[in-house]
Amino acid sequence: MTSRRSFIKNSVFSGIAFCSCGMLDRAFAQYPLTEEQKRLVAITKDAGNDPKNNYRHPNMGNKRKPTFIDGRRINTIDTHAHCFFPEAVALAGEGANINASVKGGPQHYIPMSNREAVQYRLDTMDAMGIDMQVLSVNVFWYNKTREVATEICRINNENLAALCMAHPGRFAAFGSIAMQFPDLAVKQLEALMKMPGMKGAAIQAKMLETDYSHPMFEPVLAKAEELGAVLFMHPQSTPQLANRFKGNGWLSNTIGNPLDTTIALEHLIFDGTLDKFPNLKILAPHGGGFLGSYAPRMDVTCFISPTNCDPKIVLKKKPTDYLKQIYFDSLVFTPEALRHLVAEVGASQVMIGTDQPIPWNDDPITHILSTPLSNKEKAQILGLNAAQLLKVQGIF
Ligand SMILES: [Zn+2]
Repeated sequence: MTSRRSFIKNSVFSGIAFCSCGMLDRAFAQYPLTEEQKRLVAITKDAGNDPKNNYRHPNMGNKRKPTFIDGRRINTIDTHAHCFFPEAVALAGEGANINASVKGGPQHYIPMSNREAVQYRLDTMDAMGIDMQVLSVNVFWYNKTREVATEICRINNENLAALCMAHPGRFAAFGSIAMQFPDLAVKQLEALMKMPGMKGAAIQAKMLETDYSHPMFEPVLAKAEELGAVLFMHPQSTPQLANRFKGNGWLSNTIGNPLDTTIALEHLIFDGTLDKFPNLKILAPHGGGFLGSYAPRMDVTCFISPTNCDPKIVLKKKPTDYLKQIYFDSLVFTPEALRHLVAEVGASQVMIGTDQPIPWNDDPITHILSTPLSNKEKAQILGLNAAQLLKVQGIF
């Protein structure tokens, strides 16, 4: 049997030529990775690691401003924030492109071994008024073998747990599981939920070409429901439409990501998955994509065209009613968009999401405070909903 150490040595470190060139040095100049960590990151040659993508929050260096609603201190909890760990990224293989060319790209790397990088993340959270971040690693292992996927998830989960243990008031995490091997994913989920700070698992919005309403995933969904583990279902574009997304405007993200989430959630609704697992906790970032903006169409389609709907699937509720059992983040850019999302899904279902370290919104707290909602609803979105969902207690 291959030992863990020899497996890493054989699969990653041997026979790979790369340059530890000045680009990476500049990319990580603000909080240097060790030479070995830079070497591992260099293997993937990710565009996101280009130094031109370094990002510094304009409010950096200022003390964290506590958030109060009606005189009550609210722990602000950001449920959508990412990181990478060099040792796991290296297992993606030479030339893999896992960190897209986005501002904040190099700031994804926050291994506990790199105090400067972790402190930089904490300082950025302070600059944004975020008390706690729930960290997750975006999936890059669904096309890997069982052995490699196991190793990537292990490295991610151990690093995430280490961050949570070192900063229990500041970090929680959604761990990594290999959905392409549901039996393995069940075991990984059981194990990671016993690790410090873990609140569930971050999964991609689909497993390669397969949606989670497929029966093969039922054991994982059942286990998540049993454990109360949140499934943070993150989009990674809609590659089937890559040809149409070509051209100006980064449409693979602008349209592809929200569409990815929308398709994923509609399958869970229409295929009866949310009826089978009524207590499953699904968190859809980026405001749930387009779903909240055009949901009522779902209530009419099977009436208009019964031949396109399966008579064997009899939903227990109206399709739009399922929105009230899914959780969404607040990353919808304008107060009007957030007001509308809340009107569609309910204030109890929405929580802060920033996508940190990617700076979609430098001021997520003001975004919520300036939305025309009651103070009670604002407090729910700023932190009370997340504290309840994730079972986070106390003031930190
Ligand atoms: Zn994200």
